[in-house]
Amino acid sequence: MATQEQHRQPGHPHHAAGGCCQLDRRGLMGLSLMGMLALASGAGAQGPVGALTAAQRKALSPDDVLRIIMEGNARFASGKRIPRDFLSQQKQSALEGQYPAAVFLTCVDSRAPVEVLCDLGIGDAFNARVAGNVVNDDILGSMEFATAAAGAKLVMVMGHTACGAVAGAIDNVRLGNLTLLLSRFGNAIAATEYAGEKSGRNYAYVDAVAATQVKQTLTLIRDRSPVMRQLEQDGKIRIVGSMYDLKTGRVSLL
Ligand SMILES: [Zn+2]
Repeated sequence: MATQEQHRQPGHPHHAAGGCCQLDRRGLMGLSLMGMLALASGAGAQGPVGALTAAQRKALSPDDVLRIIMEGNARFASGKRIPRDFLSQQKQSALEGQYPAAVFLTCVDSRAPVEVLCDLGIGDAFNARVAGNVVNDDILGSMEFATAAAGAKLVMVMGHTACGAVAGAIDNVRLGNLTLLLSRFGNAIAATEYAGEKSGRNYAYVDAVAATQVKQTLTLIRDRSPVMRQLEQDGKIRIVGSMYDLKTGRVSLL
């Protein structure tokens, strides 16, 4: 089977990448999101891409979705995001409905917009954002909608380095409604073993607590959502944790 690089070679019969490849699962496995979406839009592999279609998402396994997201982050971190026509994606997804492949739980931090840093387009993913990427019943309900009702195949909880919410929780900040939100980090703070200075000024410690919190959130999701736990046991979704490094632009799986 031809690789995506081979598809781009002028001599390859699939060079045009405009729809000559079969949209079956086997064909899709060899294509990145770039190639897949190029097929959907009829554009060349380097041209604007369309929103995910129902057929394309149906052909993807949860592992495929995870791979696509990590490939997207690699493109972002190397400055090679693919060109997108957001206006055509908006029009297509408005007409044909949405078929997002993943649901993210991410922080509100302005430096960590997951659609940008994983090189995704309109209609590719749900994204629940809350300071410190913590779960509560409303977030769990949103994730159950995204997976059980709307068909997303990957749940990714993404923390990030230098998170102000985690630092605030460590320093026991109290401020209006934020106090309750920060109290949700208590278990992660208690469970993080760290030999150095345990303060919100020490970002090595803050990052360690943030990673612990992501891992604990995965457990919380499975414990408190029988819906997602069953989907995971049936192999219909994967539930994974990750950390985004603000300095490198890289997402790492936990
Ligand atoms: Zn944050």
